[in-house]
Amino acid sequence: MNVLDLARPEIRALQPYSSARMEASGGQLLLNANESAWAPTGDSGTGCNRYPEPQPAALVDALARLYGVCREQLLVGRGSDEAIDLLVRAFCRAGRDAILVQPPTFGMYAVCARIQDADVVEAPLRPDFTLDVDATLATLTPAVKLVFVCTPNNPAGSVVPRADMERLARALAGRALLVVDEAYVEFADEGSVADLLDRHDNLAVLRTLSKAWALAGARVGCLLAHPDVVALLRRIMPPYPLPLPSVEAALLAISGWGQANARAHIDIVRAERARLRTALARLPGVRAVLPSQANFLTVRFDDAGAMYQRLFDAGIVVRDVRRYPGLDDALRITVGTPAENEQVLAALARGKGLSGGAALLKSSAKDGRGVAEGSAA
Ligand SMILES: *Cc1c(COP(=O)(O)O)cnc(C)c1O
Repeated sequence: MNVLDLARPEIRALQPYSSARMEASGGQLLLNANESAWAPTGDSGTGCNRYPEPQPAALVDALARLYGVCREQLLVGRGSDEAIDLLVRAFCRAGRDAILVQPPTFGMYAVCARIQDADVVEAPLRPDFTLDVDATLATLTPAVKLVFVCTPNNPAGSVVPRADMERLARALAGRALLVVDEAYVEFADEGSVADLLDRHDNLAVLRTLSKAWALAGARVGCLLAHPDVVALLRRIMPPYPLPLPSVEAALLAISGWGQANARAHIDIVRAERARLRTALARLPGVRAVLPSQANFLTVRFDDAGAMYQRLFDAGIVVRDVRRYPGLDDALRITVGTPAENEQVLAALARGKGLSGGAALLKSSAKDGRGVAEGSAA
């Protein structure tokens, strides 16, 4: 059995749109796409008067090198969100097929499934937010075509051990595609499972430049998968997914210089994550700080709503994750710069009748002014 047997037959049979840019290779004078002959005002060499390559070769090669796959195994698009959407549309027949998710987890999987009218089957994580492989397999129905696993998990920060992932991929062979979302893997102790792609044709890995690579605003993310899956998704992808300025930004971000910068920032985030976790755990009103392998900490509070408001009043916005199962007392706090993290600690320590120590109160007062000025500006 081929992994494409899991995909929608009408998508496999689809004749894709042939864009003018696809026919342009080798041409000198491009008069086939009704583009402007003149670069737009402000364009300094990007050439935005021309449509971009559907899969920019230089970027595909650079990303393939970065992720240790061959270029046929890589699809680049507008964030990993686009890859999630393409997977659901290519593999799930409306009203018939389903995806499987493990709550609490990233919300986009279910949103894309609902848009496609695919069912969402849930196999919750254990109370400690680890993945239960047996429970996942027991929940599987013949309708499930995609199994999404988010590791490190958003919003819990937990990871799935590699051995569990291999077991899951093996057990799902011929039944469903295992989609591993590694949006935060750069911040984790354990590496990517992309090297398992050659052994499991039903494995797909999502990577993004939005988090560790500081390019959330450029919208660049990848699917790493079997070449047949990549080719299938290219058929249903819009013809020009990647704006030229985003391609330029991505190439710079993953250049040698860019990689050195990103690694330095990842090191800071990992060190701050440890420091912040210890400091938060000591604050009154904090029940627990979940261990995290990502660039955020999910924190349980006696009164999460009041703490959200206290941070908000100090000009600090965190994510209220109380609607997620198992997290009804929690907020998710992104690790910022050391100074930003200090502001979070100071704001949380500022509560009535708390004595967080003289140093903490002093820095609280100082940072409080800074935040107020910042939010008024
Ligand atoms: C942030 C995030 C993404 C989104 O990635 P984009 O590449 O920005 O679309 C995907 N998955 C998870 C789990 C995320 O937290």
